[in-house]
Amino acid sequence: MSDYRINTKCVQAGYTPENGGPRQIPIIQSTTFKYDTSEDMGALFDLEASGYFYSRLQNPTCDMVAAKIAALEGGTAGMLTGSGQSANFFALFNICEAGSHIVSSSSIYGGTFNLLSVTMKKMGIDVTFVSPDADEEELNAAFRDNTRAMFGETIANPALTVLDIEKFARVAHAHGVPLIVDNTFPTPVNCRPIEWGADIVTHSTTKYMDGHGVAVGGAIVDSGKFDWMAHADKYPGLCTPDESYHGIVYAEKFGQGGAFITKATSQLMRDLGSIQSPQSAFYLNLGLESLHVRMPRHVENGQAVAEFLQAQPQVTYVNYSGLPGNKYYETARKYMPNGGCGVVSFELRGGRPAAEKFMKNLKLAAIETHVADARTCCLNPATSTHRQLTDQQLVEAGVPAGLIRMSCGLEDKEDLIADLRQALEAIEE
Ligand SMILES: *Cc1c(COP(=O)(O)O)cnc(C)c1O
Repeated sequence: MSDYRINTKCVQAGYTPENGGPRQIPIIQSTTFKYDTSEDMGALFDLEASGYFYSRLQNPTCDMVAAKIAALEGGTAGMLTGSGQSANFFALFNICEAGSHIVSSSSIYGGTFNLLSVTMKKMGIDVTFVSPDADEEELNAAFRDNTRAMFGETIANPALTVLDIEKFARVAHAHGVPLIVDNTFPTPVNCRPIEWGADIVTHSTTKYMDGHGVAVGGAIVDSGKFDWMAHADKYPGLCTPDESYHGIVYAEKFGQGGAFITKATSQLMRDLGSIQSPQSAFYLNLGLESLHVRMPRHVENGQAVAEFLQAQPQVTYVNYSGLPGNKYYETARKYMPNGGCGVVSFELRGGRPAAEKFMKNLKLAAIETHVADARTCCLNPATSTHRQLTDQQLVEAGVPAGLIRMSCGLEDKEDLIADLRQALEAIEE
């Protein structure tokens, strides 16, 4: 599959039926797998043979879909997880432990921010947040002897900042640590962070990859490019014997291309169990089969909506990296020449009362906390996700009371604009 282009991979990678085999990926709805001898099974438990024994660790349906995502990202190995949250947690926890430190962009998904600043902190893992716009000197200053990973989002949810992946990768590598990039919003159709130096890529497949709001899920892809053995003192989990598997050393036995995912599967999935169900993986694959067709339409609609909103008197500003005046316009063009995604945010001049009226009058766009599926939806953080904050606190958090986040779906852009126009006019009534 590696010779094919990305559209072909969206449709075909990960599964090639045998003569007379099912055309579509089979859903292997089985918790366990049968063997003829104990020796056969023993070889699996020793990681001497590859195969399946229990779906908490690995399932064939999930593996086929993971292989497709790895092919799309240009990685050497991939795994599915039960959610985007578990994907980011596993990617980080696979190389961090109590006493480790992470340097992360401050402009990341709220759930990931909590994971890092609250939950992983309780596990003894420290984080330093840096601005995605920080220069290399500032980024360097955030590193410590115990730093084990650098983290950022290609297009951050919800701030829509764009990560300078090459800059982050350069700094991470100068300190001998991998760069982990959450590539949920652009998807590999619009950006492949590994081509720009990222070492590990994560996804909430719940968003565009699924694309229809059907199944929660996540994925991790390893580029195979990070030389763990060259930094063995930092990564003992990959570079020294794992006694729970008779002393194998992941980085030796599975090489640079396989060690990270094998360890995450055989230790973290085994012990923490955040598997994606085979049924969900099947839905995810249906989404992936049309990802390359859907993403350009999400971008087209996002761009059209952003341009329309920018010209409206009721709107103070529009945040969309496809607009020439946007702070990230050049960065976005470099990393995502075909556009980023369909999520746009904008502020209504009339603040909270205007936002309430606007939201109430939307007819086509639904009010949802979700983003990135086929149906357009809007959210006013001040009256939903950020409800507990005062207007002053909202301004400080960068989400003023009149802010609307809009996820443009796959409808006709003229209908989306007409809906926006009438809801904006209703503010003045
Ligand atoms: C939604 C999201 C997550 C969390 O994913 P879930 O599938 O909801 O667990 C992580 N990162 C980004 C960028 C997201 O948008």
